[in-house]
Amino acid sequence: MVLPIFFSQIVGHQTALRLLRRAVATGDVAHAYLFTGMAGVGKHSVAHAFAAALACLTPTPEGEACGECESCRRLIHDAHPEIHTIVPYSEQTLIWQLWDGHNVPREAKAHQVGVIGRTINFAPSFGRRTVYILTRADTLTEAAANSLLKTVEEPPPYAVFLLLAPMPEDVIETIRSRCQWVPLYPVDADTIRQWLTAQHGVEPEVAHRCALLSQGCPGRAWSLATQPQALRVWDALADLAYTVSGAQTPAPALLLAERLRSLATVDISEEGEPSVEAPAKSKNPTRGALLLAMDALCAWFRDALWVACGGDLGGIVYQGDEQRLSRAAENMGVERLMHALDTVLDVRRAVEGNANVQLATEVLMMRLLAL
Ligand SMILES: [Zn+2]
Repeated sequence: MVLPIFFSQIVGHQTALRLLRRAVATGDVAHAYLFTGMAGVGKHSVAHAFAAALACLTPTPEGEACGECESCRRLIHDAHPEIHTIVPYSEQTLIWQLWDGHNVPREAKAHQVGVIGRTINFAPSFGRRTVYILTRADTLTEAAANSLLKTVEEPPPYAVFLLLAPMPEDVIETIRSRCQWVPLYPVDADTIRQWLTAQHGVEPEVAHRCALLSQGCPGRAWSLATQPQALRVWDALADLAYTVSGAQTPAPALLLAERLRSLATVDISEEGEPSVEAPAKSKNPTRGALLLAMDALCAWFRDALWVACGGDLGGIVYQGDEQRLSRAAENMGVERLMHALDTVLDVRRAVEGNANVQLATEVLMMRLLAL
């Protein structure tokens, strides 16, 4: 998906957009912003449109990029030398990505090396501001975070840092306290459904299903709707959750763990985010893909819990799977389903915190089967 240049292209997030538009319109812009929210909720989209408006030479009175000036034209052609996007190298954002230094891997692209150090002392010449988007501020190594801190404390007046992370606590406190916080919350399913149908020509039925499964994240909904295998993977994850529920003959834990890893193939760490350029070294899924797969398991167990509590069937995410959800609800009951949800969330946190992927999935399945 192409990243938006205009706030008007963004799905939902009206409160956040009001704040950002006002900052552009009044010129009262902070040095650093921290955008938080689930993967796929739209952090990168919002930050990109904000960067466009911040750099634009002639923003509209509503605080929107003009779309016509030199800065906007360069951004539209993906050739803006003053809006920098820094993605983690493999699973971390390293100091050589920010400042020149030793230990630069040979396969790193030249533009990735020392981007802040190379550019921060030069005033922008195409746009009004230089913008640095750190797509995963939660992956900054301690050394990188500490050296970034010095710059975020006293940047040149034209530089703005946009940091993206799942949660505020994921960013070290000293940096976080210097950022204006912009939380992005899940977008309602109806808004996502309409956007998929109207903007992307997705069939209404598919759009409805993807909107529900996305749990408020337009980026996920879009990936589900446009990657042909993604919906099948989500269905297979529902099969896996059903097997784990024990409403049919359960399989051994290690086999289920392997199945979970093999299904973790859809990675939408953030819509439109450039892919991480580090070489793939193992057959294990990426952390982002595994987190998404675990979110799908969570959604299924949450649906079963909803059914077990006698909730209205219109409120479930896995529409069409009511029969199996009822069977699981009957078999597990409210308490065990709550434990199942806790267990998945617990292991999910461990995966987020860099736990070994194979071990984490095995522990997850053993704990779920032992409930
Ligand atoms: Zn412009």
